[in-house]
Amino acid sequence: MSWELLLHHAPSPVEVLHDPISDARGVQLLIKRDDLLFLSAGEASYPAFSGNKWRKLKYNLLEARRLGFRQLLSFGGAYSNHIAALAAAGKLFGFHTIGVIRGEPHEPLNPTLAFAEACGMQLHYLDRTSFREKATMDWSHTGHPALGPPYILPEGGTNALALAGCAELGREIQQQCDPDFLGIACGTGGTLAGSAMGLSQKTRICGFPVLKGGSFLKEDIENLWRENHFENLPSWALYTDYHFGGYAKWNKDLLQFIQAFRHQHGIPLDPVYTGKICFGVFDLMQQGCFPRGSTVCIVHTGGLQGIP
Ligand SMILES: *Cc1c(COP(=O)(O)O)cnc(C)c1O
Repeated sequence: MSWELLLHHAPSPVEVLHDPISDARGVQLLIKRDDLLFLSAGEASYPAFSGNKWRKLKYNLLEARRLGFRQLLSFGGAYSNHIAALAAAGKLFGFHTIGVIRGEPHEPLNPTLAFAEACGMQLHYLDRTSFREKATMDWSHTGHPALGPPYILPEGGTNALALAGCAELGREIQQQCDPDFLGIACGTGGTLAGSAMGLSQKTRICGFPVLKGGSFLKEDIENLWRENHFENLPSWALYTDYHFGGYAKWNKDLLQFIQAFRHQHGIPLDPVYTGKICFGVFDLMQQGCFPRGSTVCIVHTGGLQGIP
């Protein structure tokens, strides 16, 4: 049943944001509610498996099934949305999951890891030094010996199949609103790179890195396009001033913005990804970076797990 829902789902909605700032600037502001793309199974719903994590896992889950894998393994920090999404997807689609977590175990588990474990994920901790070597380590005997070797996803989940899933996000946006500007939060940049493959040439893509060091990301994204033979390169730019100190760091201004946004629009944002990108888009709008009469769409990539 859930495989059917994974393959054939309605596009997540695009909503209009009525805001004094966009009104004053003459900009039509839209939001692609990919946070509303999630599965409900019986009584339970799985918002952890939503947004761009759904997009990135979709074809990986299908491929793992096609190849006969019964376990999925991936890597992440203790607050990783990717780990939470993988755990939820494993539970929904009948895979045993293994999360290789950076750092030492802490009891009690934080909400992300408690959720992952409740979904049946086996947690495996790796000190920071070894974690850097994870890609060269042999994981084929990890997990349940009776279930065979695990299907391995990279940290953050970005691979060719993830890009194919994100291209569908791009295509939906093109069909729903074909905006002049599209704002996307970037961790690994996989969501931006994949979405670009489904958008029209009209759309200028604005990426907002949530980590420090956006220049690496430019190369990473260009490499993803090259490796996947994507030649129709879009117009795009990275805005590197909105990381608020780095991954999972924030300040009072950001929290106030998130609260005001929720009050004004009734839409929750998280302080790690979507809060930063919305803050960035509003800041650029206030500076007059988007011409009067243009359409600006923000992608709500989800990531609300662990946020009270
Ligand atoms: C993981 C995540 C991202 C970053 O996606 P990348 O493909 O790694 O750039 C953006 N937004 C949310 C909500 C996420 O959970």
